[in-house]
Amino acid sequence: MAPIRNAFARIMKSLVVKFTLLAGALILVSTLLLMAMENRAARGDLQQRLTERAELIGQVFALNVADDAADRNADALERRIGRLVERPEVTEAYVVDLNRRILAHSNPENAPVSRLVSNPLVVMALGSGDARLERQGGAIHVAAPVYTSAGRMIGAVHVIAPMDELEAASGDMLRRHILISLFALACMLPLAALAVGRALAPIQKLTDAARAASTKSLDVQIEVKTGDELEVLANAFNRMLARIDANLKRIHRLAYVDMITELPNRERFRKEVERVAHKAVEENHSGAVLFLDLDRFKRVNDSLGIGEGDRLLEMTARRLREAARGCDLANGDGGEPSMVARLGGDEFTILLPKLDSPADAARVAQMVINAIRRPFEISGHQLFLGASVGVAVFPQDGADPETLLRHADLAMACAKRAGGNAVQFFEPSMNQSAFERLVLENELREAISQNQLTVFYQPKVRLQDGALAGAEALVRWKHPTAGLLAPGAFIEAAEECGLIGEIGDWVLRAACRQAAEWHRQGRDVPVAVNVSAMQFEREGFCESVLEALDAAGLPPRLLEIELTESIAMKDPERVIEQVQPLRERGVNFAIDDFGTGHSSLSYLTRMPFDVFKIDQSFVRNMTTDEHSRIVVETILAMARSLKLETVAEGVEEPAQLEALRDLGCTLVQGYLFSRPVPAEEFTALAAAGFSASALRKTA
Ligand code: C2E
Ligand code: MG
Ligand code: MG
Repeated sequence: MAPIRNAFARIMKSLVVKFTLLAGALILVSTLLLMAMENRAARGDLQQRLTERAELIGQVFALNVADDAADRNADALERRIGRLVERPEVTEAYVVDLNRRILAHSNPENAPVSRLVSNPLVVMALGSGDARLERQGGAIHVAAPVYTSAGRMIGAVHVIAPMDELEAASGDMLRRHILISLFALACMLPLAALAVGRALAPIQKLTDAARAASTKSLDVQIEVKTGDELEVLANAFNRMLARIDANLKRIHRLAYVDMITELPNRERFRKEVERVAHKAVEENHSGAVLFLDLDRFKRVNDSLGIGEGDRLLEMTARRLREAARGCDLANGDGGEPSMVARLGGDEFTILLPKLDSPADAARVAQMVINAIRRPFEISGHQLFLGASVGVAVFPQDGADPETLLRHADLAMACAKRAGGNAVQFFEPSMNQSAFERLVLENELREAISQNQLTVFYQPKVRLQDGALAGAEALVRWKHPTAGLLAPGAFIEAAEECGLIGEIGDWVLRAACRQAAEWHRQGRDVPVAVNVSAMQFEREGFCESVLEALDAAGLPPRLLEIELTESIAMKDPERVIEQVQPLRERGVNFAIDDFGTGHSSLSYLTRMPFDVFKIDQSFVRNMTTDEHSRIVVETILAMARSLKLETVAEGVEEPAQLEALRDLGCTLVQGYLFSRPVPAEEFTALAAAGFSASALRKTA
């Protein structure tokens, strides 16, 4: 019942129905009005005719009864009255004398002869001598005086003529008129509906188009060729829809497409992962999110400039799309295609909606890495990038986009730490270590502001005479709960969260201040400061060193900067460029942990370094392991020919010291002489002449 009622209500709301009903009502009202007017006129006519006829009947009757009335011949009068009332036009009649006494009556039982009549009409007729008539109820009363042939009034007649005819005629007319109006309505209503429908057709089109535009698509065109305001309105409507459509497409593009690569952006990818992961849970299959970060992109971007960097991203996007399409084709059709997206910076993601096994994801990741490793041609240069890929498989590693992206990102960071160009699947333990790392980073931020960092100093001893040759500055963190922490516990985290710049600057300034203090006390102790890759590669590194020297008032010859072999060899040209201005001022440079990297011999001879620091892993094993001894021997021989100073790190045993002396090492550093100690302790050690005692032990 309700649907029928709803449908009816809807139909009644339609403009065509409303206008048709209005037209119908107008037709009906106007027909009825016309008919009422016509009816009135016709009724008036008939009434006139009936009145005239009644008057005529009355007057003729008065003439006819004149003689019999004069003779007071009641019988004759009664006969005449009898004949008169036989006619349908007359219902009652009587004759009175001048005294208004009845001479004869059509109904003698009720009105006997000689009865006095007081009818005012009769009284007036007798008084005036003229016929009088009046309508009373449904009849016409006529009273006419009766004259003798000699013209003497002798009485009057009263005739009553019924108006039934008039009523009957009016009833007929009303029925006829109702029929006519119904007929008119029946004929006019469909015509009215047709006319209204035609007139409203363009509005109907506009309404349909507006409804379609609001619910389905804006891709609608309204064809209205009426040449009037409706056509103007329809054209304006078409233009408006086209503009809204174009604007919506633009907004969609801005919201969901990455402008540089034309790939879906983070939001679009997030939505797609949400849909696909939900479907995977319902259909009980698995898929994967690959998180990819380009290795070395930042460096290339910085040196090429933003425009070329963007081109590199475009090329990367194209390769990723090709690799993903290749995988889709290999999987055969029917399945959902993969989606490549750019999250921002050099981070890309790939969604694999359906996997037969996790090995498929590893295969795709490997294909992607291979695609990125191929050289890129930019402005005539060949550029080499790498990629680290993290994989999160759904639903087991997460079923919502945020979790999956976070887990794939954690796995990617792991792959990157392992050296890049690698694939790593997410493991739950990564979450824990990521959490710990987060806590550590937050604490480290506090450490700087709360002055929890300090610098320890470890002596470097000249082998030849046991003199104190310098100190290495080594940072320590006085952690409020964990106690004194060595750099191994926090330097990597500081590098990853970008705090290494601040920490490095702080250590550099503190070490310079300390060395300047010793210098002022008359003890020249060259201080070696470790510099991390990130700190060294930062814009303005050279300036920050000069500033620290200036601020402390330390002669540059008393500062040595240690760069690990891996930093020095990553981009030798750049290192030479960075180091040169500081060396010209007198600052010394040392290659730290030497022997662990893969130094190119050709570069080594050109590198502007003053010291080789032999990595402690070789020193530790040189007395027991032939290979380590050969490495130490080779480094020392090379340093000699390049005329460089050498420091053997991690000397713990007299035998190691002995072997190093035999091989011609110039400086030593290790627990055998002293652990790294606070500045005050170092000052005291130096004053006590500790190096001599250490060397004495070996002598
Ligand atoms: P490194 O520059 O090679 O420093 C030498 C490390 O060997 C120090 O560890 C030192 O305590 C340790 N060592 C010295 N003699 C011996 C020995 O006889 N036996 C053993 N087993 N170890 C010895 P530490 O202080 O824990 O520093 C570790 C690394 O952290 C340093 O290695 C350096 O690369 C880095 N580092 C320390 N301070 C800073 C800093 O201020 N900035 C940066 N960027 N890195 C720092
Ligand atoms: Mg060092
Ligand atoms: Mg070292």
